[in-house]
Amino acid sequence: MLILVLNAGSSSQKSCLYSLGELLPNTLLEPLWEAHLDWTVPQEGGILTVKSNDLQQQIEVKERNSALKVLLDTLVTGKTQVLSSLNEIDVVGHRVVHGGAKYNEATVITPEVKQAIANLISLAPHHNPANLEGINTISEILPQVLQVAVFDTAFHTTIPEVVKVYPLPYEWYEKGIRRYGFHGISHEYCAQRSAQILQQPLESLKIVTCHLGNGCSLAAINQGICIDTTMGFSPLEGLMMGTRCGSIDPQIPIYMMQEYGLDGDELNQILHQESGLKGVSGISGDMRAIVKAIADGNIQAQLAFDIYIHRLITGIGAMVASLNGLDVLVFTAGVGENSSIVREKTGAGLAYLGLELDLAKNSASPRDENIATENSQVQVLVMHTQEDWAIALATRSQFP
Ligand code: ADP
Repeated sequence: MLILVLNAGSSSQKSCLYSLGELLPNTLLEPLWEAHLDWTVPQEGGILTVKSNDLQQQIEVKERNSALKVLLDTLVTGKTQVLSSLNEIDVVGHRVVHGGAKYNEATVITPEVKQAIANLISLAPHHNPANLEGINTISEILPQVLQVAVFDTAFHTTIPEVVKVYPLPYEWYEKGIRRYGFHGISHEYCAQRSAQILQQPLESLKIVTCHLGNGCSLAAINQGICIDTTMGFSPLEGLMMGTRCGSIDPQIPIYMMQEYGLDGDELNQILHQESGLKGVSGISGDMRAIVKAIADGNIQAQLAFDIYIHRLITGIGAMVASLNGLDVLVFTAGVGENSSIVREKTGAGLAYLGLELDLAKNSASPRDENIATENSQVQVLVMHTQEDWAIALATRSQFP
């Protein structure tokens, strides 16, 4: 079965083509083709990077509305061609960020599912529109092909009521104001991969996964089931992030509205785009730029870094409390996979758990490896998250 995966974000579009047989492999297969469209590049437009047939090609993309068509074209034309026609694709799996309370597993997309994704746009304004656009473009180009939605919220539908319900008027909960949690595809993949790497049954492990990318979140996973997570009603809650504030006193936006006249749109922009590492440092939301500025003696950058680590350590502490113990700590996504200093400082703050990092292993660019010492009471894994592969498997599982 040829499965095209579309993973659309607000500033990028990742896509992969996998060929999966009836028996699902335990280990990851390489995609036949992969494409990454990045809109954050300095020049106008975007850069599309395509890898297949052992080569890599870059293409400049000018317009957003035809970008997905340009991307799909590289499957059937030029040096990156791997198909003679797009009609060879059997099914398309989409990452959909918000599935609300209803969707707790991958779901074949029907007009009703599409409507539900559209209805949730107000809860995921940066992501669900891009996901819908992908679904609609595929319907136009390949009207016969089946499409599957793989929801980032689905893994968190198991969190108990005490975690789900906010201490607000209960009618708000009935209106859908509740903890949903995000990055679920990544958290679930990392939990399953932990069991593989450690060669222990998932059912025997208490795991905290730290997904630290532009957005950051933690999940507490007991016996493979998510029981707590730091993101909530929206991807704004929880840890300090690149440009998002994470948890703050809810009185602050009310005060800024009443005393400084900020309106909802301004607050939305500031809390999502101008806060976090970028807001405190005044430099950037990119951890690489923060670490570089610290080396150059920038005090604001140091403060931003210290807050990030403090909130990460205390956030992990809260997840450990939910789990009542910890066997495995996982670092993943851009910062988690690449920043040895973030892992080192976090590890040092968790020494009270009997967690001890092997600093040599930590600084040797580990990938899918255990970086804890032999004596450590907690295993610490650095893992390359494979969301696209997880989406392909979830999509395949819809066609037994
Ligand atoms: P997204 O949440 O958009 O999927 P990623 O998981 O790709 O993001 O993470 C992107 C972030 O990873 C960047 O903003 C950057 O801060 C961080 N990052 C990438 N490489 C490194 C590195 N070598 N050191 C520190 N941080 C890094």
